[in-house]
Amino acid sequence: MINLPRRTMLKAGGAALASAASFQPLWAAQDPDVVVLGAGLAGLNAALLLEQFGLRVRVLEASTRMGGRLHTLDDVPGRPEAGGSQVGAAYARVVSTAQQLGLKLETSARSPLLRDESMVYFINGKRLTRDEWSRSPDNPFPTALRGMPPDRALGRLAGISPLKNISGWADPVNFRYDVPVSGELKAQGLANAALHLLEVNNGYGETLADTSLLNLYYVQTNIGEIVKIKGPVQNIVGGNQRLPEAMAKALKGDVRLNSRATAVDVGAKGVTVECADGTRHRARFVVCALPLPAMRNVRFSPGLPDRHAEAVQQLAYGQVTQFHLEVLKPFWESEGVSPYLWSDGPIERIFPQDAKGNGNAECLTVWINGAGTASWDVLGDADAQQRLMSELARIYPSSLGAVRLARRVAWQQSPLTGGAWANWRPGQISRYAQALGVPHGRLHFAGEHTGRAIRGMEAAMESGERAATEILGLL
Ligand SMILES: Cc1cc2nc3c(=O)[nH]c(=O)nc-3n(C[C@H](O)[C@H](O)[C@H](O)COP(=O)(O)OP(=O)(O)OC[C@H]3O[C@@H](n4cnc5c(N)ncnc54)[C@H](O)[C@@H]3O)c2cc1C
Repeated sequence: MINLPRRTMLKAGGAALASAASFQPLWAAQDPDVVVLGAGLAGLNAALLLEQFGLRVRVLEASTRMGGRLHTLDDVPGRPEAGGSQVGAAYARVVSTAQQLGLKLETSARSPLLRDESMVYFINGKRLTRDEWSRSPDNPFPTALRGMPPDRALGRLAGISPLKNISGWADPVNFRYDVPVSGELKAQGLANAALHLLEVNNGYGETLADTSLLNLYYVQTNIGEIVKIKGPVQNIVGGNQRLPEAMAKALKGDVRLNSRATAVDVGAKGVTVECADGTRHRARFVVCALPLPAMRNVRFSPGLPDRHAEAVQQLAYGQVTQFHLEVLKPFWESEGVSPYLWSDGPIERIFPQDAKGNGNAECLTVWINGAGTASWDVLGDADAQQRLMSELARIYPSSLGAVRLARRVAWQQSPLTGGAWANWRPGQISRYAQALGVPHGRLHFAGEHTGRAIRGMEAAMESGERAATEILGLL
């Protein structure tokens, strides 16, 4: 599972072998060596690696399930993923851990409903095919970008990434790009109508003024690295959440659900964690694998260093609200179109969930990004459902009565995640990127936001590996 430098392996392996003889538990025999906070991929990967090297580990997870931002909606037809869905060919740690735990991966099906040429555009209140949109007088984009959804055009308009490799995003030499992308776009003389459309569905900031050019380069370079490794996009058979579940099952130590850490006291000889249920957990080291917004609800003593503490409060997380609709009748067929949608209205995008790739979507996922989430998140379920159905019927008149709301997910509303992913605003990479993974005494940090070499699920795995290696290196 891990490719540690030989010296570290020997050192850590030696410590592990010697553990029975020389590890004097600091507090009590039943205390673990390491407490890990958070049973997402980062925390679980750290826990597995630490156990592999002979340490006793306990994982504390606040919610009632494993996986955090991996969340397969098992009770919704078609089992859509509410969180991380695509396993890239370059996700070596995700793929090898899944395989070692006996899980199967399958190539994600290519649905005929999800072809670019099938996408329906609903812009300025008009429904258009891709061809119609590309020829429309309302289309404000330069010729090369007229036939693609505006959110994809944003990446192209930002220009070719100057980062030599993925690690370059955190290199001070590139901090001059940590500025609002709006400046770059205005310098290109883009029309206001184009700027407006680029702001809808923007997954990297609420406005273009709070979208960092460097963050866009980071995303672009990440995609470039992923596609260098040839291979299909995959998913885990039965749902991606099966991976954290299998990781938790493979641990010898316990994973305690419903255990929300509220305080972490870091001492010279050990760390004590307090949970909301009144339990206390003592260990030699702690790995904090919590998203930054979740860390806002934990008291650290002594307090985190200034930059880290500031990042916990300030770092932006992407807002994503989803509505998963069960398909009672494939209404789009009678209209001769696909339910795959890009819109500048309140329903921003729809992704048909057609896992078998045969054109029979059992579920449609309405996906709203960034600023557009606010007007939905203030509504109660009944009002949200009513608005959703009437907005959908404006675009697809025959959808009335043909779908049922099965599940609503708003990542930014959960205090345990606080958003979908770290969404560095202008100035935040330069200010915080270096500070986030640095240990605070016996407290080590993991989580997607501390990943260096790639983003998403693989970043979470990489960060757990780094935190475990740091601890092993201290033994
Ligand atoms: C909508 C969406 C789509 C995505 N798509 C992709 C994709 O296609 N490909 C990709 O690679 N990545 C994708 N990602 C990102 C990927 O899912 C995450 O980067 C990754 O799962 C994060 O793992 P983590 O361990 O860092 O954090 P998390 O999974 O968030 O784990 C943190 C855990 O800590 C727990 N916790 C919080 N507070 C406490 C506390 N006080 N005490 C104890 N436990 C606590 C939480 O409940 C959670 O289980 C997506 C994410 C989202 C939300």
